[in-house]
Amino acid sequence: MVSRPMLEIVSLQKCFGDNVILRDINLKVAQGELVFIIGPSGSGKSTMLRCCNRLEEPSGGDVIVDGRNIMSGTRRDLDLMRLKVGMVFQGFHLYPHMSVLNNVTLAQRKAMGRTAEEAKARAMDMLERVGLAHKADAMPAQLSGGQQQRVAIARALALDPLVMLFDEPTSALDPELVGSVLAVMKDLKAKGMTMLVVSHEMGFARETADRVIFMDGGVVVEEGAPDEIFGAPKAERTQAFLSRVT
Ligand code: ADP
Ligand code: MG
Repeated sequence: MVSRPMLEIVSLQKCFGDNVILRDINLKVAQGELVFIIGPSGSGKSTMLRCCNRLEEPSGGDVIVDGRNIMSGTRRDLDLMRLKVGMVFQGFHLYPHMSVLNNVTLAQRKAMGRTAEEAKARAMDMLERVGLAHKADAMPAQLSGGQQQRVAIARALALDPLVMLFDEPTSALDPELVGSVLAVMKDLKAKGMTMLVVSHEMGFARETADRVIFMDGGVVVEEGAPDEIFGAPKAERTQAFLSRVT
């Protein structure tokens, strides 16, 4: 049986003025799959992720989440689908004036209509999952960068996403804090989350990714299993990129 993809990107295009950033991106991510994306700076990786929940408006193409096209439907459909596509950025974007707990409950209450009690229960479960239940009453500034990023992950998970998108989640962290965030991501994968990850952590990709995609010039140049892409890249552009970064 072929199950339908959890996330499908079809002929995605994005231009900024005359600049064509995404030319024709096609990508299917199966349920529970972790797809790892690499490519030179400026190749459109962030733009592609942002198009997946229309933080960036695609110039053409379709994005289908769990069988629903987020490019069609009402504004309300879009708001609901946005909740299903969790996003974690390089900067953590926590509200500095709110406790960790309130950071994780806010969108649950405002966007999902959960009661304060429901939201708190779900938040505590998710904080537990990222190892930070004991920090629920702390303010973001009292946490390390790695802890703040794990709160950002808990906040996204609390909205019951179908897919999680990570845009360089460890790039802003001191090296000694990277491992704790990768460990949370690895646990998420083990629990069956569907994930699209842009990162430079090639070791993590080798261990955890089902597939690696190399993007350049607005297209997917090459894709394959981590061993294939890192061990024996076929395209010249992939070889050149990997020889620069590894
Ligand atoms: P990556 O994440 O792979 O480094 P980005 O998706 O951030 O690449 O950017 C791809 C290209 O799109 C870059 O050339 C960048 O300057 C351009 N770009 C990104 N966002 C905008 C924007 N809002 N307006 C104009 N150009 C943009
Ligand atoms: Mg980027």
